[in-house]
Formats: sequence, structure tokens, C-alpha cells
Amino acid sequence: MDALSSNADGRQHWQSALMDNYGTPGLTLVRGEGARVWDADGAEYVDLVGGIAVNALGHAHPDIVAAVTEQITKLGHTSNLYVNPVTVELAEALLDVAGLAAQGKVLFVNSGAEANEAALKISRLTGRTKVVACEGAFHGRTMGSLSLTGQPGKKQPFEPLVPGVVHVPFGDADALRAAVDTDTAAVFLEPILGEGGVIPAPDGYLQAAREITKATGTLLVLDEVQTGIGRTGDWFAFQRAGIVPDLITLAKGLGGGLPLGAVIGVGEAGELLKPGQHGTTFGGNPVCCAAGLAVLRAISRDGLIDHVSRVGKDIAAGVEDMAHPLVKGVRGAGLLIGIMLNEPVSPAVAQAAQAAGYLVNPVAPDTIRLAPPLILSQEQAEGFLAALPGALDTTTTKD
Ligand code: PMP
Repeated sequence: MDALSSNADGRQHWQSALMDNYGTPGLTLVRGEGARVWDADGAEYVDLVGGIAVNALGHAHPDIVAAVTEQITKLGHTSNLYVNPVTVELAEALLDVAGLAAQGKVLFVNSGAEANEAALKISRLTGRTKVVACEGAFHGRTMGSLSLTGQPGKKQPFEPLVPGVVHVPFGDADALRAAVDTDTAAVFLEPILGEGGVIPAPDGYLQAAREITKATGTLLVLDEVQTGIGRTGDWFAFQRAGIVPDLITLAKGLGGGLPLGAVIGVGEAGELLKPGQHGTTFGGNPVCCAAGLAVLRAISRDGLIDHVSRVGKDIAAGVEDMAHPLVKGVRGAGLLIGIMLNEPVSPAVAQAAQAAGYLVNPVAPDTIRLAPPLILSQEQAEGFLAALPGALDTTTTKD
């Protein structure tokens, strides 16, 4: 149990074996059920981070457990030399909920970064090389997806990156229009900046991006890695915006906790990739796809899209009504929520919330991000709203 403990000795255990890429882990989690998790010392928390917008059905959901168990018992892996029914079934189900059944095609990968990497490669198959992305955006940390990412601090040590990427201010349609021309292969956009602080695109921006890219024959790539699969109270953010992108990248919630990413290509964009041009050993792995199918089916069956809308609105309303000097406001959609503070957010805020029994994610400069499992209950949401002012008080008295 030593290696799992969250005390100072436990920390030395991980330090000797794990690369220090994230800094000191906040907690050692050993178990989860629904929206709750437990640490190595038995303390219970409501998980409002959701593995950062991953655990759509929460932890240890019986449907995922059953689907994964059945699939790994039957056929755990095929490589992409062969196909298997569950991968095809998931592709069909995904296109169905995206409303793209007759016009879309799916490429499965293993993560969000890989989905964007693949979308970037697909965009090169147009014969163009220039790409436009946004300042503040996050698209992943592989070299291609990092090149798209608009956060200089994450990129600088790894330069030179993939050439040809131009960054424009997020939400500024005029800047986008000025940057995109007939040499532009693709525009990459997040409908809501997730890592960038839960900042929704202003009204009309995604529609303008669609119109600008259409006029120049440029692919519009929507990165719905964080916003997709019910997170915003719609299946996908593009549906709320009333547009159809050329490529949609997905991961996180899609696998419900298993590593699964996807690129949906619409129309001609779904036909660009030719045999042998791209692939990954685990892409379309049947066990991960079985989990993905369980996620999509449970969201539909259990009315989770409406549930996310309802609980998300209640949390937003609760934060709006919170007369606390540190709380400035709230933004986001569904269960992707940014609570804005009047001062820089510090790790102390996460620690105080943790001490009150809630896991939250501080995002610089001033935002607390919530991206809980989509099954978060009304009671759990209310419990958090009741606990937040006290937790924030602790941080002010400590500082
Ligand atoms: N795109 C977005 C919008 C993301 O939020 C993330 C992860 N935070 C990624 C891409 C990268 O996904 P992954 O960590 O699975 O590579």
C-alpha cells in the first residue's frame, strides 16, 4: 500500500518510477463509482474533473464493464489489417448521433492529439499546407497537434514545430477572414476553448468560420475532443451552432474512460485518406469501441443529453446567484463549466475544494473548470454549490 499512499513517503515512490511530466500528483485515486472516487486513504470525493471531461458515464459504469468484459473475452484486438463488427457498429452509431449517417466516414485513433494529428495530415491531402488555428486553443501535445495549439509556453521548448500554422485571436471573425485564403488547407477551431479557460466562441463565430472556409475551399476542422459526446448539452457543439464542419475530431468522452479517439470526415473530406497513408495499431480496437458503443447507447437510453443541460444550467444559475466576493461569474455550456474568479486561481482553490470533498480543476489565469461525468446527479451538483463558498473562504484566509 506504500506505493499508493498519498503521504510524503508515497510521493517518493512515484518519483522514483514515473517521469515528472505533470508535477506532484494531487491525489492517489484507487477506486471510482458513478461520479464518486476514493483515494488511497479511503477519503471520498465527488469527481467534478471527470478525468478531464472523459468519464461520460462516470466510473465503473455497469454497461461499460459488461461491454468491455464481453468484448475482451471474445476478441481483444485485430490490428488494422482486419476489421471487426464492433468497430463498424460504433462508426455507424457515431455518424447517426452526429446526424451525418449518409455523408460521413470515421477514422478511429487513440487520443485527442492523435485525432488532430490525423486531421492535420488529412488536410495536407488537399495539396495545400497553410493552416489557421487560434490563440489560446489546445489541440494536443504531439508535434503536429502542438503546432496547432495556441499556447506559446507549451510549445517553446519543442520548436521548431510543423511549419505553416498561423494563429489568430479566438472569436474574431474578421481576423479569421483576413488569415484564410485559397492556399489554406484547414482552419482548426474549438467550439469552446477548454484548456484555454472554458471560453465559448462568440455568437456567430462558428457560422462565420463555416462561411469563410467554404468560400476559400478550406477544410473546417472542429476539435470537439472536449465538447463532443454530450458534454455541452448537445451531442456535439456543431449541432447547436447549426453548421456542418468538414472534419470533427473526438476523444475523451467517446471511450468513457478507455483510450479512443476519432476523426469524422464529412463528404469529400471523408474520402481524402487513401489506403496506406495513415494508421495506428490500436485504432479501432474492438475493446475500446465496445466501450464507445456502451457510452453512446447509455447517453441515448438514459436521456443524458437533457440531463446534462438541466444540471449544467442549475450549476450555472447557482454560481450566478452566489454572492461571494471571489466569484465573478460563470461561462461554458452543459457540464463544461468555467467559474470565473476575481483573482488568479491557485492550486489552493483545488486543495480547498478537495478538502470539502470535491475535485475541481483550476485553469489559469482565473477559472475553476468543471467537467464532471455526464451522470452527475442534481444532489451532487447542489452539494458542490453549497460547499464552494466555504472552500473559497478557506483560500482567502490562508493567503
Ligand atoms: N483537443 C482538445 C480540445 C483537448 O481539450 C485535448 C485534451 N485536453 C486534446 C485535444 C488532446 O487530447 P489528448 O489528451 O487525448 O491527446
